[in-house]
Amino acid sequence: MALVPVWDAHTCVPLLSDYNLASLQRHIDCGAYYISINIGMDFNPLADIVQIIAGFRKSISETDYLIQVESFADIERARVQGKLAVSFDLEGGVPLCESPAMVDLYAKLGVRQIHLAYNRSNSLAGGCHDVDLGLTDKGRAIVDSINANQLFMDISHTGYRTSMDIMAYSDKPVIISHGNPRALKDHGRNYYDDQLIACANSGGVVCINGVSRFLNDPLASASSMVEAADYLVQLIGVEHVGFGLDFVYDQDLDDGPEGLDVNAWWPPEHGYAKATEGFLNTLFAPPERFIEMTSLFESRGYSQAQIAAIYGENMYQLAQKVWK
Ligand SMILES: [Zn+2]
Repeated sequence: MALVPVWDAHTCVPLLSDYNLASLQRHIDCGAYYISINIGMDFNPLADIVQIIAGFRKSISETDYLIQVESFADIERARVQGKLAVSFDLEGGVPLCESPAMVDLYAKLGVRQIHLAYNRSNSLAGGCHDVDLGLTDKGRAIVDSINANQLFMDISHTGYRTSMDIMAYSDKPVIISHGNPRALKDHGRNYYDDQLIACANSGGVVCINGVSRFLNDPLASASSMVEAADYLVQLIGVEHVGFGLDFVYDQDLDDGPEGLDVNAWWPPEHGYAKATEGFLNTLFAPPERFIEMTSLFESRGYSQAQIAAIYGENMYQLAQKVWK
């Protein structure tokens, strides 16, 4: 059976500058021609993030089936040649140092999507597990720069009020690169219907996340992911649904910065594992789910065109529009 072409809006690899991205072959084997990988969160020191970008760019250049996304044409090239186009995303605005010009720099280094707060609030925006102060003046300046640089404005990990502020303020489509409906799993990292509708009304796409704690299934099964996708299709239409798997490659490699306060960034009161347990009580759906899910979509009556739209075409077309 032919693989459905996949656009994965967010997946993680260890944040280690010498990590070998050749492991991403596994995504190609499951149909992916594009992937956005995280290069840092709000708690990663800027010096580390810069070295991670340098290391990842080198690893991509040395792997013949990976293509660094410098322009939209690189994605088309990956799709035609059976390769994987790779760009970066930044999880939280702290590493922007409150400077809109830093967005220009990250864009030149390969970052194509940014959200402003990672779980906790900062000077730009409110996080989803913190007191949500909304989008600040400094945050608005960053949104302007993200739009001006033609990057995806993302509201993953963002607080409710801030997310609504961003969607009201941004003059470009806003995406949720990895997030699920709160109606199916009531968790602070998930999204209420009015947020999902506002995202679609902005012209954006909501990308289903394969992390067990955000799905209605501790095993993060293909059926629970299809259930989440189908809920979104009923609510906002098939053209606004995608996937941001949030799979974590090589989870056994420790990439946390020195002295990281795990309980502050992933609060136990929101169901995250205690620091001593690591992330062992979380299951990350692997890329093979893309293969498993197709027959489940078919049995729910989805056409091949609709499945292709959700797996990749919707995000591809949005990128074509936003990235220019
Ligand atoms: Zn994330």
